[in-house]
Amino acid sequence: MKEFVEGRLKLKRKVLVVDDEEVERRMLAHMLKAKYDVLVAADGQEALDIIKKTHETLSLVLLDLIMPKMDGFEVLHEMMKNDKLKTIPVIMLTSEKSAEVKSLKMGAADFVPKPYEMPEVILARIGRTIQLYESNRIISATKTDPLTGLFQRDYFMNYVEIADNYAPDIQRDIIVLNINRFHIINEIHGRDYGDLVLSEVGMCVKNYVERNRGVACRNNGDMFYLYVPHQENPEELLWQVHVQLEDTIEDAQTRIRMGIYSNVDKSLEIEKRFDCALLACNSVKGNYKASIAYYDKAMHEKEAYEERLIMEMDKALSEGQFVVYYQPKYAIQGTKTVLSSAEALVRWKHPELGMINPERFISVFENNGMIHALDHYIWWKVAGQIAEWKKKFGVTVPVSVNVSRIDLLESNFVEDICEIVKEAEIFPTEYLLEITESAYTEDSAGILAKVNELRCMGFHIEMDDFGTGYSSLNMISSLPIDVIKLDIGFVRHIHENDRDYKMVEIVMEIAKLLGVKVVAEGVELEAQHELLKKAGVDIIQGYYYSRPVPPEEFEKFIVNK
Ligand code: C2E
Ligand code: CA
Ligand code: CA
Repeated sequence: MKEFVEGRLKLKRKVLVVDDEEVERRMLAHMLKAKYDVLVAADGQEALDIIKKTHETLSLVLLDLIMPKMDGFEVLHEMMKNDKLKTIPVIMLTSEKSAEVKSLKMGAADFVPKPYEMPEVILARIGRTIQLYESNRIISATKTDPLTGLFQRDYFMNYVEIADNYAPDIQRDIIVLNINRFHIINEIHGRDYGDLVLSEVGMCVKNYVERNRGVACRNNGDMFYLYVPHQENPEELLWQVHVQLEDTIEDAQTRIRMGIYSNVDKSLEIEKRFDCALLACNSVKGNYKASIAYYDKAMHEKEAYEERLIMEMDKALSEGQFVVYYQPKYAIQGTKTVLSSAEALVRWKHPELGMINPERFISVFENNGMIHALDHYIWWKVAGQIAEWKKKFGVTVPVSVNVSRIDLLESNFVEDICEIVKEAEIFPTEYLLEITESAYTEDSAGILAKVNELRCMGFHIEMDDFGTGYSSLNMISSLPIDVIKLDIGFVRHIHENDRDYKMVEIVMEIAKLLGVKVVAEGVELEAQHELLKKAGVDIIQGYYYSRPVPPEEFEKFIVNK
């Protein structure tokens, strides 16, 4: 860009003089030649030919109005019809007062009356027009997204504010469109194809906002934001986009999802309003049939609830509102079923909201990073509990703690775990770490190094939710794990579905190959228990034996060990 601008500055700008009168043409050319690179044309057709050939470098056209065959209006009209030519400024040369207004209406930038005034005045008018058009071009290049012609995000947000100030009584809707799995589309079909999809969607969006007097922008690659006067049927946009994609693109698999925040509350900050629509849009992620969601009361309440949990988390931590429950795991393949270990599961005993299950807050805290503080506290509590039981009962009950994939990204993760275990004076072998399968597929190299380090120190690693993380066989064989924890999904219908049983058999084969044990969790029924035992599963956890219970209650399992 810089080179381009500098190049232009060093070069003389190109100006075309169009006039059928030779004397006038020469006079103008002579006037301009010191400052500009002057091209000349003697009639309308010649002018158009030159303009078409040189439009990329042509800075201005000085156009005589009255010419035989093709007059100045016709040339101007032809230029305005053409997207590339209409950006070149045209100054009309005319002796007729009445033609001035018409020229401006037709798109001319300015006019110069004949006979010509002082050369300085004409030069000044030309110079100013060129400058104006050039700076305008630079502004609109940064204002719009070149691929779709829609606004850039900042400009868009500005327009939203202006629209609200200008017409505060008009009800507005926000629509957010997102292309499902766009990065995969890009990966499989290439960037050009991805760009094509984006520009097709962008075109539908543009047509839609133009029809409905709204504005739109492209945000973060494959996300489209729209701000429109309230619509009765905003779903139609989604169908328009789908029809457009099916018509123009061979692979009709591309799916769009849409979040709508209808009749926005204008007392909310603008960014917040868009967050609401985005929340709705993300709520249909991966849900192929229902690809539209409205931001509604339930969503609002969920958000408000989560907001409250975030606000109160620190206080809850310092007041000991988070408690650890323990669920036993039993080794079932020996002659006698024996307690092998436990899993520590957090609960929030909230003074007003009652007992809150981790499903309601773990992902919230993962998203904002608070999970570190919580898990750190839980890990520390559990280490203390292991030490206490050891002292009280003279036996070790190893306990596994859950490690979030977010914890693994923390630079001190390994040191923290070591420190906790050392302080409680227990052995690493008594402390088990459950790491969800999907954590390994994210940032493998960094995570693997940490897990390996811990394993070398004697910690046992259990791969949690096995079967949900898409790791390949090849990858699993190189992972540092001691135990596979079958996801509850394998267990739930095993007694009703032969296929699930077969799947478990396959996992058992893999485990044998890797030399690791298998735990099945979520076991509730005798029938499930029997089948898992038959398949060779080593350890069972689930309501069949016990729900997660407070530590005092867990002690009965140790006593009966
Ligand atoms: P998870 O690690 O897969 O834990 C197993 C979940 O299954 C637990 O839910 C457990 O109570 C439940 N469960 C156990 N047996 C049965 C059964 O027989 N039937 C059914 N239907 N469910 C059973 P919970 O305690 O609600 O925890 C949910 C998830 O929250 C956990 O899934 C884990 O991912 C996360 N979580 C729990 N505690 C912590 C923690 O301290 N730190 C972190 N980072 N995550 C935790
Ligand atoms: Ca777990
Ligand atoms: Ca699990």
